[in-house]
Amino acid sequence: MAGQESRSYRAQGIVLRHVEVGEADRILTLYTLEYGKVQAIAKGVRKLRSRKAGHLEPFSRVELMFAKGRNLDVIAQADAQSTYQTLRSDLKLIAYAAYVVELLDRFTYEEGENRPLYNLLADTLARLDGGASAQTAVHYYEVQLMDLLGFRPQLHTCAACGEKIQPEDQFFSAKLGGALCPRSITADPGAWKVSLGALKYWRHLQRSAWSKLKDLVIPAEIETELASLLERYLTYLLEYGLRTPGFLKAVS
Ligand SMILES: [Zn+2]
Repeated sequence: MAGQESRSYRAQGIVLRHVEVGEADRILTLYTLEYGKVQAIAKGVRKLRSRKAGHLEPFSRVELMFAKGRNLDVIAQADAQSTYQTLRSDLKLIAYAAYVVELLDRFTYEEGENRPLYNLLADTLARLDGGASAQTAVHYYEVQLMDLLGFRPQLHTCAACGEKIQPEDQFFSAKLGGALCPRSITADPGAWKVSLGALKYWRHLQRSAWSKLKDLVIPAEIETELASLLERYLTYLLEYGLRTPGFLKAVS
C-alpha cells in the first residue's frame, strides 16, 4: 500500500488550456500552486457522465489528485474550488480571462513552483469574476507579471542617463527596460512615445497593492495608450527577452 501511495499526489491548479485526444481523453495544461506548470491527461472526460468534465474547463480552479503515469500523469480526481460562473456568463470577461491565462502560459515553462505567480493568476480571475474594472484588473496583472518574471521596468529614472524623470511626455525603451527622457532618445531611437499620464498610471499599477486600486477607473484615453504600451512591451519580452540568459535566471 505504501508503494501505491507514492504513486499519487495532490495539488490545486488552474486550467490554462487543453487539447482533445482520442475519443474521450483530454490533455490539460495546468498552473498549480505546488508544482508550477504541469501537463496531465484526463481520461474519459468527454464521456457524457464524467463528473470531472465540467471542472476541467479553461480557467477553472480545481483541487486535483494525480496518478503518476509513464509519460503523462493522469488526473484521477478533480474537485472544483471555483468555476467563476459570473465571469463565464460575460463574453468580454471570458476574453479577458483567456488573455490572462494565455499570457501566463506563454511566459512559463514546466520549471517548478512559483507561488506568487499562481496567486497572481488566481487573484486576477477572482477579480474579473467579482466585478472589478476588468481593464484595471488586467493591467495590474500585466504589470505585476512583469515584476514576478524579473522584467520590472525602470519608470522613475531615465534608463539611459539615470536622471530623475521630469513631468513632461517621455519615451519608453523596451530594449533598455524603462522610461527614456527626451534628451536621451539617441540611446534608443526606436523607443516608443509615452505620455506623462500613462507613465503615472503605469507607476501606480507597479507600486500599489490591489486594495488601493480596486476602485480605480483609468481615463479612457490613457487606458487606450497604456493598453497598447503594455501589450507592445509584453510582446517584445516574449519575442526577444525570452531568449536571454537573464530571463532563464529570473524564472529558475
Ligand atoms: Zn535620459
